[in-house]
Amino acid sequence: MALTHELKYVKFIPMDEITVIKQELERTKTELGILYEISNAMHTTLKLDEILYIILTGVTAHAGLGFNRAVLFLVNEKEKIIEGKLGIGPETGEEANRIWTQIEGEKMNLDDLINAYKFSNGTLESGFNRQIQHLKISLQEKSGNLIAITVLEGMPLHLTKETIHKYQTDPLMKILKSEELIAVPLKSKEKVNGLILADNFITKKPITKDDIRMLIMLGNHAGLAIENSQLYEKTVLRTHTDSLSEIWNHGYFQYLLQAEMEKTKAQQTPLSLIMLDIDDFKIYNDALGHQAGDKILKELAQLLKNQSRKMDFVCRYGGEEFTVILPQTSKNEAFLIAERLRLDIEKHSFIYEEILPQKKLTASLGLATFPEDGQTPSQLIASSDKALYQAKHQGKNHTCY
Ligand code: GH3
Ligand code: MG
Ligand code: MG
Repeated sequence: MALTHELKYVKFIPMDEITVIKQELERTKTELGILYEISNAMHTTLKLDEILYIILTGVTAHAGLGFNRAVLFLVNEKEKIIEGKLGIGPETGEEANRIWTQIEGEKMNLDDLINAYKFSNGTLESGFNRQIQHLKISLQEKSGNLIAITVLEGMPLHLTKETIHKYQTDPLMKILKSEELIAVPLKSKEKVNGLILADNFITKKPITKDDIRMLIMLGNHAGLAIENSQLYEKTVLRTHTDSLSEIWNHGYFQYLLQAEMEKTKAQQTPLSLIMLDIDDFKIYNDALGHQAGDKILKELAQLLKNQSRKMDFVCRYGGEEFTVILPQTSKNEAFLIAERLRLDIEKHSFIYEEILPQKKLTASLGLATFPEDGQTPSQLIASSDKALYQAKHQGKNHTCY
């Protein structure tokens, strides 16, 4: 009696409806699995470039969200722009065929794809990526700027075949030439810190509601991972930077010299080291105080940084001594560079420099080169120090080697 009473309330679900629910469950399970895998991969590293690569591999891999192409932008709040950071995807049908057949043939899953990138030392040579990495888009000009609008509002934007023509003038659309496109913001806490765009440029497969939902969920995970990595990179940078002069500190100089010498030995190229010391700096400090002296150290550090090559490392060795590591540079080349720096300092007008014995602020430089002046970092530092001592003995404002 009680049993029939209860049975009255059991709803009968038709078989075809059960099949639909089952399929839905299966799909959700697969989707969660994919997101879980990408999310896990993001946690394996704190390096920003690797995280960005993992995110876009997740968006484009067949084992991931399966889009043909994906592009990632990050917000640069200081300059009020968004910058293209990475673009993944084939440029032509043939290229797509070649890459996808290879991935299929080698049965590469997400992990394999990510490892392939790590082993290539983070280089992604493609015309598409290069084009994206050159893109800087203002966040202040809203008109005709789909990306800026999306980023600022933190909303996903689906440009369908019917609506996409309205965005023809957008700088990004000119490069992507998509027929359908989805743009989602990357969110960290309450902030929007970037944007992913994805399309099916090659296969023309329509973008579904499920694709969009997945991309939005991935965007939320990705935004947080990016923020963590940026915080980490900032902290690392701070621990390697001298707080007064804002150039590399002593500890990092030692690390850099060791690392650069190892590279040099492997490549069988020379490497030079400049040791620089300000002339009569005690007099300047005694006359004007240490705060005035500190300002000079800061100004000189920036001058050295601005006047040296991109490939060189300018460091504060200690006190009023600076070093410049010159990778792949012979003694002759290094001498010319050192002399140019010395003259730049001599020509630069530093405040109250007239109180110095020579009426201007100058520096002495010592130069040492691997392999002839030393085989180890310590030997090279000792040689450059000795040369600096000679420069002081020759009346200061000299370069010796
Ligand atoms: P020389 O031409 O022989 O190099 O003479 P010098 O007076 O520059 O002597 P030395 O190289 O020994 O310079 C040491 C002086 O540098 C002592 C101190 O007054 C100044 N100095 C070192 N570190 C700092 C610093 O962090 N801030 C300031 N303001 N001065 C510093
Ligand atoms: Mg000194
Ligand atoms: Mg000095």
